Amino acid sequence: MIDIYLSPHFKLSELIHSDKAIELGIDNTPPEDVIERLKIVCCRILEPVRDHFHIPFRPNSGYRCAELNQAIRGSKSSQHMTGQAVDFEIPGVSNYDLANWISMNLIYDQLILENYESGMPSSGWVHCSIVSGKNRMQCLTIKGYLKREGLFK
Ligand SMILES: [Zn+2]
Repeated sequence: MIDIYLSPHFKLSELIHSDKAIELGIDNTPPEDVIERLKIVCCRILEPVRDHFHIPFRPNSGYRCAELNQAIRGSKSSQHMTGQAVDFEIPGVSNYDLANWISMNLIYDQLILENYESGMPSSGWVHCSIVSGKNRMQCLTIKGYLKREGLFK
């Protein structure tokens, strides 16, 4: 598959890379409609984040084919399977600060600060999704961290 830039700073190969897929020999090549959705993820989530924080980063996980999603025990309705979600972190930036900035500045369908522990800035990661229709602006966290802190009501 030929690698292409989906947006000025992010390549298709970065949005479909998975160590687990390589380990298990799963072909995580996306269909054309998924590539179009990944472009939206790059242009409307990853690029504005990179512009704001001015720090290069690579997403942890973008697209996951159904087989890969099952292999990592992802949610059955995971938006990673449709190319609408990305997990990422930025070196040197607290995942809490990252999620907080996204919540106040971007349009998203679901934003989740996953596995974040108070006082450990690099713990966890941020999951963010976007759809081409109506975005729910749903802000969740597995541990209820942000809600507890009163940041999301
Ligand atoms: Zn995710």
